Amino acid sequence: MKMMNCKDATQLMSERYERTLSLRERLSLKVHTAMCAGCSNYGQHLDVLRKATARLREGNMGSER
Ligand SMILES: [Zn+2]
Repeated sequence: MKMMNCKDATQLMSERYERTLSLRERLSLKVHTAMCAGCSNYGQHLDVLRKATARLREGNMGSER
């Protein structure tokens, strides 16, 4: 199996919010984050950020600009 580098890993992490990753992609991402603390942190950060953004968007839904 080809090892994924950090650039690929971070790219997949942002792509997974826009599209469904293939099983192979998810698997390589899992393997990479399990061994790479940097990408593991990045993934968690991205998740928190994503949820915060979604919450903000929901909160603004009622008020029109
Ligand atoms: Zn990495």
